[in-house]
Amino acid sequence: MLIGCPKEIKPQEFRVGMTPSAAMEAIGHGHQVVIERGAGAGSGFEDAEYEAVGARLVDTAAEVFATADMIVKVKEPQAVERAMLRDGQILFTYLHLAPDPDQTHDLLASGATCIAYETVTDPRGGLPLLAPMSEVAGRLAPQVGAYTLQKANGGRGVLLGGVPGVGPAEVVVIGGGVVGTHAARIAAGMGANVTVLDRSLTRLRYLDDAFGSVFRTRYASAGNTAEMVVQADMVIGAVLIPGAAAPKLVKREQLQYMKPGAAIVDVAIDQGGCFETSRATTHQDPIYDVDGIMHYCVANMPGAVARTSTIALGNATLPFMLDIADKGWREACLADPHLRAGLNVHSGKLTYAAVGEALGLDA
Ligand code: NAD
Repeated sequence: MLIGCPKEIKPQEFRVGMTPSAAMEAIGHGHQVVIERGAGAGSGFEDAEYEAVGARLVDTAAEVFATADMIVKVKEPQAVERAMLRDGQILFTYLHLAPDPDQTHDLLASGATCIAYETVTDPRGGLPLLAPMSEVAGRLAPQVGAYTLQKANGGRGVLLGGVPGVGPAEVVVIGGGVVGTHAARIAAGMGANVTVLDRSLTRLRYLDDAFGSVFRTRYASAGNTAEMVVQADMVIGAVLIPGAAAPKLVKREQLQYMKPGAAIVDVAIDQGGCFETSRATTHQDPIYDVDGIMHYCVANMPGAVARTSTIALGNATLPFMLDIADKGWREACLADPHLRAGLNVHSGKLTYAAVGEALGLDA
């Protein structure tokens, strides 16, 4: 199969769909790889690294789309990219179709077979192609929160780990899933006192077993959440209710009881955020102040560490990409129900029920 990887064109997107190492593996499996010149630059991969493993470089995305049997990307195809998709071509990338009728209609019209990273499943009920980005955002959250807490950024001027003779910061993480667990581990590693709140007792039991000596857990009742938030120097929002907007767990009137200059890092902002006062911000202007509480609400946090994110995403997508290339999408999906769960559009038909429900289309 000829696998093609264009340069990402969505603003502020620095990741790339294929690393040189993934290209090498695909070529080792007997496939050909075509890469748009400069595609890896944002993640620190030179064209020469792709050439060295046997990939062919082309000057334009049009050449990639015109020749490839399968397009491997990161972000959903933009309108100009959708116009280049062909009947029978395979598209393997994040799609997030439910809130995006324009993209859905274009993909249906293209005749392509579109497999969405975000709906591929694993045997434990997880989402293996979303998890790496949650891991990245979770580990990044205390880092950006620590920066937000600095005086020059409007923060309280508190060092997470304290110093000998001065106590550490109090960090509260709401939601103890993938993001929350990674955030709690890093915050604790930086020396903070960390408490994780979750609604799932099963999850709290797991966290206590695995990390009981590293951070504490509390049940996320409204009362416990309110009590912990007022004691916190930093609150990290990491809840998810699959398929739904994030619940607003901290209301604006609660901010007045928080420590002045405390930091809120709302990682759940891509689902609307779990603080009433959250609104999405960008890497260019990430922090804003509401009632003296500094909010960091960047919706695409992994973009800040594009190289780590690209490699982490590539590690997760590689086995699926190879499977599709080796067997063809049909055989691969028949053999693996978890990959099949990623199939969103095929040959002009919507094949993912939740997207159909969200957009009022037959699926
Ligand atoms: P996850 O499903 O692994 O974890 C979510 C946790 O929230 C679960 O343990 C669940 O029990 C808990 N929860 C649900 N309702 C709760 C409540 N009312 N109170 C307390 N806990 C509650 O999800 P995840 O992968 O950790 O993702 C968390 C959020 O981070 C999602 O919204 C995801 O989209 C987002 N995210 C954002 C970025 C970004 O760049 N901003 C990057 C990656 C993920």
